[in-house]
Amino acid sequence: MKTAQSLQQWQSVRDSLPGTLGFIPTMGALHEGHFSLIERAQKECDSTVVSIFVNPTQFDEKSDLKNYPNKLNEDLQRLEQLKVDAVFLPNYKIIYPLDYRYQVQEKEVSSILCGRYRKGHFSGVLTVVLKLFNIVRPGRAYFGEKDYQQLRLIQDMVSDLFLSVEIVACPIIRERDGLAMSSRNLHLSTEERSLAPLFYKSLVEANGPDEAVRRLEESGFKVDYVEEYFGRRFGAVFLGDVRLIDNVAL
Ligand code: AMP
Repeated sequence: MKTAQSLQQWQSVRDSLPGTLGFIPTMGALHEGHFSLIERAQKECDSTVVSIFVNPTQFDEKSDLKNYPNKLNEDLQRLEQLKVDAVFLPNYKIIYPLDYRYQVQEKEVSSILCGRYRKGHFSGVLTVVLKLFNIVRPGRAYFGEKDYQQLRLIQDMVSDLFLSVEIVACPIIRERDGLAMSSRNLHLSTEERSLAPLFYKSLVEANGPDEAVRRLEESGFKVDYVEEYFGRRFGAVFLGDVRLIDNVAL
């Protein structure tokens, strides 16, 4: 497995990769959700590249960024076992040479759901994804429906900015008890972890968003929102300091 940190290293790795390049951008602390995207890319592409970059511009809370899990050594071991062809590990200066002077701003879908609660979040996401696409130059890029709003915004950005990458949407991978896999689950206490599956269950079982909110609040969740768009029901909740998101098709 090849690794690249600088742009120069990446260019020579990129030049050595044959055929269609499948790309999976991540923030690390990898789990089965990430691996499902990687396996799909390996089936559909000639070469597969993963990036690990905890993107500061998409964090609205400094403490959330500071506490974001870092498991770089384990991640690299797993990626090697999975036979990923290359890993791109840039730092802030490489991705933001002009310190976030240029930003991608979307004006509709980024202001609902998580965008309403996390100011600037989707500008950070879209900006870093555009930069990564320009550096990595993939033929296909793989994103999880776990972050469905993000996926839609990226699909629309690719179409509106005439980017030549195909976006592949991948289904949500869940724990056996229904909890959507997430790097943030690592921060749940034992008690919070045993409560967490109720989030998915309430999204699936409630007759409407209001009923889901009531059930979740009664069980001790702090609810940012449960709302329906695009034929799906979306939720964002806190268990202690840990923010969880999920969505289900209606
Ligand atoms: P992250 O490292 O959280 O930025 O996620 C990187 C990619 O993995 C994004 O496209 C996510 O939507 C996707 N992803 C994260 N968790 C899951 C999951 N449980 N199932 C499917 N995809 C996921």
